[in-house]
Parts: sequence; C-alpha cells; structure tokens
Amino acid sequence: MTRSEELFNEAKRYLVGGVNSPVRAMKPYPFFTARAEGARLYDVDGNSYIDYCLAYGPLILGHAYPKVVEAVKEQLEKGSAYGTPTELELEFAKRIVKAVPSAEMVRFVNTGTEATMAAIRLARGVTGRKKIVKFEGAFHGAHDYVLVKAGSGATTHGVPTSAGIPEETTSNTLLAPFNDEAAIERLFREQGEEIAAVILEPIIGNAGCILPKDGYLKFLREVTAEAGAMLIFDEVITGFRLCLGGAQEYYGVMPDITTLGKIAGGGLPIGIITASREIMENFSPVGRVYQAGTFNGNPLSMAAGLATIEELERGEVYRKLEELGRRMRRGLEEVSQDAGFETKVYGVASMFQMYFTGEEVYDYTSALKANAELFLRYQQEMLRRGVFIPPSQYECNFLSYAHGEEEIDYTLEKAEEVLKVLK
Ligand SMILES: *Cc1c(COP(=O)(O)O)cnc(C)c1O
Repeated sequence: MTRSEELFNEAKRYLVGGVNSPVRAMKPYPFFTARAEGARLYDVDGNSYIDYCLAYGPLILGHAYPKVVEAVKEQLEKGSAYGTPTELELEFAKRIVKAVPSAEMVRFVNTGTEATMAAIRLARGVTGRKKIVKFEGAFHGAHDYVLVKAGSGATTHGVPTSAGIPEETTSNTLLAPFNDEAAIERLFREQGEEIAAVILEPIIGNAGCILPKDGYLKFLREVTAEAGAMLIFDEVITGFRLCLGGAQEYYGVMPDITTLGKIAGGGLPIGIITASREIMENFSPVGRVYQAGTFNGNPLSMAAGLATIEELERGEVYRKLEELGRRMRRGLEEVSQDAGFETKVYGVASMFQMYFTGEEVYDYTSALKANAELFLRYQQEMLRRGVFIPPSQYECNFLSYAHGEEEIDYTLEKAEEVLKVLK
C-alpha cells in the first residue's frame, strides 16, 4: 500500500470523503502532496508530477516562486493580521485599479465565493432588484445564490444543484445557456425590469474551457445596459490569467462589477470585488450594502498578491505563456489526430482543455456530451506517467511561468502514448 493510500484511508475517518473540497476526490484515491516547486508537485511516496492543475488556477508563476516566498516571509515576521488598515492594501489596490480597465475602487475579501456573493448583493443593492441571471455550467463559488446548474466539482460529482438551499433563494436565480443570444433576449423581454445582474465567467473555466462566441460579451454588455441591469464579470479564473487586465481587456468589453481571486492572491487566499467609485461606494461603511470580514485585506495575501502582480507587470510572463499555450493546444490536436482519436481542444493564453468528443463545445449541454469517463481514464493514465491534470472533464488546465517547452513536449509524448492505449 502506498503512503497516499494509507493516509487517504485514515483521512476518510476525519474528513468527509477524505478531502476538504470535492474537486480533490479522485479514484481510487488522491495522492497526498508533500511539497511543490516550480511546475511540479511531489507526493508523499516520492513521485513527482508536472502540474497542470496549479491549485485550480492561482499559481501562474508556479509553485513556491522565490520572490513571492520572500515577500510572504518578510511580511510574516511583521505580523499576519492587524484588524487595522495597512499601507500594503492601499498599494495593492492601486495596482489593481491600474491593471483592470473597469476598476476604480477595490474591496478585498478572502475567497472567490465571498467575492461573487458580495458582488451580487452589491448589484441588488444598487438596482433595487432581486433577480440575477447565471449561465448553465458556470461556477461562481459554493454559496446559495449561484449553486444552480453549477460547473466544476458540482457537475463532476453529480450535484450541480445543491440540497439545503431554499427554493425561495434560487427562485431569484434565472438560468441561460451560454452563447445563446435569443435565450437572454427572451429573459430580458419577460423579466428585464426585475433583473439586477447578469453574472458570468467570460470564459467558462468550470465546465472545461468554453470560449465566448465572437461578439457575445459585447451583446451581453448592450442588453444589460439597456435594461438597467449590472454586468458582473466573474474573473476569478481569467483575471491576471489572460493578461494583466483579464478578459475585459482581452475582449475589450467593460463590465460594471468584476470579481477576482485565485491568481490575485499569489497562492494565498483572496477574493476581490472591484467596480467604479459610484458603484463601490454603495458598500459599507459609506453605503448601505453590508460587507465585512476579519481577514479582509489580510497582509500575507496582500504581500503575495503584490509580489505576483509585480512579476506579471513585466509582460514577459504573458508572452511566454501565450507561446506555451499555443504549443500545448496545437500539440494535443496533433497527438489526438495521430492516435485516431476524436477530441476538441479549446483555450486561450495559458488556459486549455481537451474534450473527448468530436462535436463543437460552446455551452453546458454540448460540454456534457463529451465522454467524461474516458477522460478520467486518460487522466489516470497520465498521472501514472507523471503528469497531473485536474481529475475532471469539467475543469480547465493551466500553464505557469515555471513550465517550459521540455515539460510540454514530455506531456504531449505521454498524451499520445495514452490515447493509443485507450483507443
Ligand atoms: C474558483 C472560482 C470561484 C470561487 O473561488 P473560491 O476562492 O474557491 O471561493 C468563483 N468563481 C470562479 C469563476 C471560480 O473559478
């Protein structure tokens, strides 16, 4: 028995399903990580893996990036929480306002979940309306308003709509298929005056990697503006991932409210709500939309996030990631073809996913047509060969600055080998 299996058997007695977040569950058991560095995870049995999960997105510079480690160490010695304002959070807020096109003011919280929850409350507070629109297969964290037909672990583990949520709560959450203009037009025609916001992942990274069709984001911008509803970009994945300004810069469409997380914390917990001054000043203590948190603006997260963004500002990181992303996507297409396997590979910049289907994937329904079981066999075979991709067809894969051509070429070689075995 491996050490990971031993630990897992014991963990099942103390942690539900042996894990602390459903996406970490893996058949027959997950490997337990001992440490990580650069592009690699090292498990308790002495195996190492090239990591394309990267903690589900945050680690754009790779694991234990020296400048980030240094910044956190330095801060730790000065204290880890004060319950007072700091210069650090001011400095970090300024960087975010400079980087993100629609940002004028910032509120720091601790997770992406908190950020979307507060963003929705803010939109409701500003508009005085109740309803929100979310897209099927999109994931905005694990809170009540948005756990309806949610992607990521919710889809993988068969509970896209959670038990324990009163229908009074979710009756205000309207669903639409992504990339379908007519569906949105219908919702707004019928209920437009009650809709506070449309919340979306500009690229759905929690149902694999579903890209917006040309003009779709601009269409959403126009429809919401016309109806007096807020457009919320949940950029918890795409923020600082596609480029410094996130999807709004990449696609040139300005939301009213943006949520950020993952990368923004440099590997430490974070969530961010940002918008114009006019909208943001509806938050307490200035306005009447309440939001609070003991660890908001936590100095360690601020230090790690700031050190990360300073590296990203150099631009070189994104150039490298663009190139590696192209190499990976082109390579996966080629090895699928060579192995005689029908797949669809999607992605931009350092995001990608390979769907086990021959049909185009453009929304949740088409994504669900992929062969998720076959994908899991692929994932397990890759893992045995030292490559860790998230254990679900409905997660996105990521590259970091620590990855290089060598890792990618090794991965492609193994992918071809595995696809031939699965054929
Ligand atoms: C991960 C994620 C969240 C939730 O963030 P947590 O920090 O896990 O709470 C919200 N929205 C999107 C798009 C995400 O990918």
